[in-house]
Amino acid sequence: GAKRSGGNTYLFFAPIMAASYNREVELRARIQEAILNDEFEVYYQPIVATKDAQIIGLEALIRWPQADGSMISPGELIPVAEHTGQILEISDIVFRKAFRDLHQLDATGWFVSLNFSGRLFHRGDIVNRVQYLMENSRVSGKRVHIEVTESIFADDQHRIPEKLRALQKLGLSISIDDFGTGYSSLSMLYKLPLDVIKIDRTFIHELEPESQAYQVAESVIELAQKLNKRVIVEGIETEDQVKFCKEKRCDAIQGFYYYRPMPFSEIQKLAEKAHA
Ligand code: C2E
Ligand code: MG
Ligand code: MG
Ligand code: MG
Repeated sequence: GAKRSGGNTYLFFAPIMAASYNREVELRARIQEAILNDEFEVYYQPIVATKDAQIIGLEALIRWPQADGSMISPGELIPVAEHTGQILEISDIVFRKAFRDLHQLDATGWFVSLNFSGRLFHRGDIVNRVQYLMENSRVSGKRVHIEVTESIFADDQHRIPEKLRALQKLGLSISIDDFGTGYSSLSMLYKLPLDVIKIDRTFIHELEPESQAYQVAESVIELAQKLNKRVIVEGIETEDQVKFCKEKRCDAIQGFYYYRPMPFSEIQKLAEKAHA
């Protein structure tokens, strides 16, 4: 466990290497064990329709519980896994679990939204792999969204737009996650195959009608709507923020105001309530 990768190794390297490097070496070993021991879990955060607060879909979010009851956050795990390449195996695990769970929710009509690291597009066979995993769980592409961030489009070597189009052909919807937080170019909104814009919560934090953040949020939403993209607003925590989403006629809302990420067992209870 942690002992094997800590212990002497740490004492030997600590004086000469950055602490962050040590942490990555340690994490890489622990991630490998976690893959073998099936330690990764998938939580789901419901996404609701703005108009009636009914659940329409779920975002799959990885969770890594630790023996001491704590969790290593995706914010720490994912960047390391991307750097080491382990994100390929981890994503396979998350996708498989999410498709298995989605199959059980067939009657609800809900979609599942999967976070897609840019690294996945380095796989030449990524489209076939997703198709294979969906077919294996008897999940329809119409019920699957994939979330990419704007940063992946800086990569022009791996034919990312082409692969996204191939996924769209399989029925999947493509979402741009955390929209407006990276170095986005507005032309990306019409040049790339995008179906859904997820507005990042940093825009929604401060909703004083006179503030510049408000003006930007409003304009981005209007632009997305003019381009016939669906709009999901993330990180909604307050009633005022819900009101804003309603006024702006955003399609859907995701945030602690309605639901936090939760294990599948709790999602099943919500599904029973919604479709009893
Ligand atoms: P994300 O894709 O933008 O996911 C939304 C994050 O915002 C989640 O954090 C969620 O718990 C959090 N969130 C949702 N509503 C609210 C709210 O109202 N207030 C606040 N303060 N936070 C809210 P989480 O689960 O810690 O995930 C962090 C990031 O890690 C994700 O951001 C995503 O970029 C990445 N991630 C998570 N799971 C996966 C995965 O399976 N694969 C990949 N590649 N990345 C993942
Ligand atoms: Mg996301
Ligand atoms: Mg997001
Ligand atoms: Mg984020």
